Amino acid sequence: MHSRVQLVPRRNLDIIVQTETIHPYGTMLTNDYDSFGAASAMVETAEQLTRDEDIASAAEHYRLLHGAIAALARRAAAPKALLASYLLRALAIAGWAPTFDECSKCGLQGHHNWLSVPLGGVVCDDCAPPQATYAPDDVVALLAALLAGDWPAIEGAQNGEIRQATNFVAQYLQYHLEKTLQSLSVIDQG
Ligand SMILES: [Zn+2]
Repeated sequence: MHSRVQLVPRRNLDIIVQTETIHPYGTMLTNDYDSFGAASAMVETAEQLTRDEDIASAAEHYRLLHGAIAALARRAAAPKALLASYLLRALAIAGWAPTFDECSKCGLQGHHNWLSVPLGGVVCDDCAPPQATYAPDDVVALLAALLAGDWPAIEGAQNGEIRQATNFVAQYLQYHLEKTLQSLSVIDQG
């Protein structure tokens, strides 16, 4: 739900004195399993990334989350693609933007096809550690499009490409959160 809540501050727990529903997204999301799963993973991630109440980027996280939930509710794109794009952009706000247009270790420009979670994106042939996974050009381009929110480019992607890209995003998120999110099981990680 997108709601307006009026709170009265108290020493321990604030008291809610008034609520008003602005957008009833819940009713639009609960009748579709994939949309509901993606929304759950989004809010769980947002909660993890905004644990510290005083973070300066809280408003940016809020706007991004609201936009993503609204897009899910109006079926603007495939739920998995909306989730992957949201996760990459939320991580970017948190200061962990992955790099897909140059080697994330040595900075070499150009197309690279090795993905490394610990190194933060694509790496060149010389920098690729043994654990790096090979990603075809189309998957790297899809990851870049998901990070940029370039929807025309995302919509043309094949299922296999979406699967490999979303797996990388899930692993990258869990690496930075240092924990496994229950709700991320909506992405079949292989
Ligand atoms: Zn390199």
